[in-house]
Amino acid sequence: MENEKIWQAVLAELEVGLSRINFNTWFKDTFLISINNQVVIIGVPSAFVKKWLEEKYYKNIFKALEKIINEKITELHFKVELKKNDKGEEINLKNSTSNAVFSLNSQTSVDNKKENSLCGLNGKYNFDTFVVGKANELAYAACKAVVNNLGKAYNPLFIYGGVGLGKTHLLQAIGNEVKNNNKSVLYTTSEKFTNNYIQAVHSGKAKDFKNMYRKVDLLLVDDVQFMGGKDGTQEEFFHTFNELQQDDKQIVLSSDRPPKSMPAIEKRLISRFESGMVADIGKPDLETKIAILENKAKEKGFRLDSEIINYISNNVQNNIRELEGALNKIIVFHQMSNTKPTINSVQKVLGDYISTIQSRSLSSKDVIEASAKFYDISYKDLVGNSRKKELVWPRQISIYLIREELQCSYPSIGESFGGRDHTTAMHAYNKICKEIKNNNGRVKQEIESIKQLLNNETY
Ligand code: ADP
Ligand code: MG
Repeated sequence: MENEKIWQAVLAELEVGLSRINFNTWFKDTFLISINNQVVIIGVPSAFVKKWLEEKYYKNIFKALEKIINEKITELHFKVELKKNDKGEEINLKNSTSNAVFSLNSQTSVDNKKENSLCGLNGKYNFDTFVVGKANELAYAACKAVVNNLGKAYNPLFIYGGVGLGKTHLLQAIGNEVKNNNKSVLYTTSEKFTNNYIQAVHSGKAKDFKNMYRKVDLLLVDDVQFMGGKDGTQEEFFHTFNELQQDDKQIVLSSDRPPKSMPAIEKRLISRFESGMVADIGKPDLETKIAILENKAKEKGFRLDSEIINYISNNVQNNIRELEGALNKIIVFHQMSNTKPTINSVQKVLGDYISTIQSRSLSSKDVIEASAKFYDISYKDLVGNSRKKELVWPRQISIYLIREELQCSYPSIGESFGGRDHTTAMHAYNKICKEIKNNNGRVKQEIESIKQLLNNETY
């Protein structure tokens, strides 16, 4: 068999045991260079892929090779080499013009904090404090690769995963490290991008806006699922994206779902999002949770024995933000009461918290149902089109609750309310936030009552 055919067969064998994302990420542009005296050499597109294949897939590849060629092999090596096409030209080669060193903050007299606030970075997030486990190792490795090969390894890098699983942490960590290498970095959320753009257009400063976003070496956009649609924001983002990508400037995006599942985002943007590398973050496994708790407790100079750490890790299921929340509660309680944590005291402190966060596995339907019950209106009216005052208010409250309690995206909330536009959901949420800020007692009481309804129901 020719090398090409052997390798195709090996890939087919490997593909079965891997997720599509993993397979595409690690095996795209690999090829069989040679088989000689039981020594096999595989060509791979980058040192990063080489390392990953050696560490994670060595055995699988070894076995698959032996199976396909039906012979024992003794050695398997990987070599960074670009695949050639029929004419012998290297394919998939990006011009690796080195990025000009350019800093937004070249007048370095400004202090660090101010500098950070200009580019949206928070120095507290870095790679050292990020605990790597099975659920996030791919995303982590991809982020490191981006730092080491800015604009060249994966562009864009698209990271997705549920709330509180570390997306912002990773984006910020990339930003901080790249900034330390004297490159210009801009971190933003899609909501900020949208608002800034609209503001810039209204005040006749669209050009400044373009300049700001298009001249950075690294653009980080967090939570792209909230990118506004109708007002030209996505159009603007599309052009920003293209310009940066053409100049080999790095783009990193995060979202709570994969590119294809964002109904409010234009198709052409989605295909751009998918054109680099897509990496997901899943819920942490028990070991990762334990490691994170141990680290965070140590960071805060607080001692917890392993029984307690196990208890927390077993009971806080959803995400890492909640894990930190639980730890903080324990620390505050025991410092205030000046007592040592025991399993009993911890169970007592966390009792309510654990039941609240477990109620978060509620769906938006549950929230709408509870709100309808509380306001004594029908589910249908609550999600319907009528703009009657006695319906609009309950609708806004339930939208607020869904966003606040379930962290649903605005487009998906719009969906739950009869296919409304995401801006309606955003408006409702902001309105209730304002009411709460203004100390509207009625709002708080109603929200609390609905929450209680939710907690009491066993859905
Ligand atoms: P997301 O943006 O995905 O909603 P965040 O990045 O805000 O989540 O993470 C929530 C909190 O959990 C942050 O304080 C973050 O530092 C922490 N965190 C998340 N993942 C990890 C991890 N793997 N190791 C350590 N801390 C983590
Ligand atoms: Mg985030």
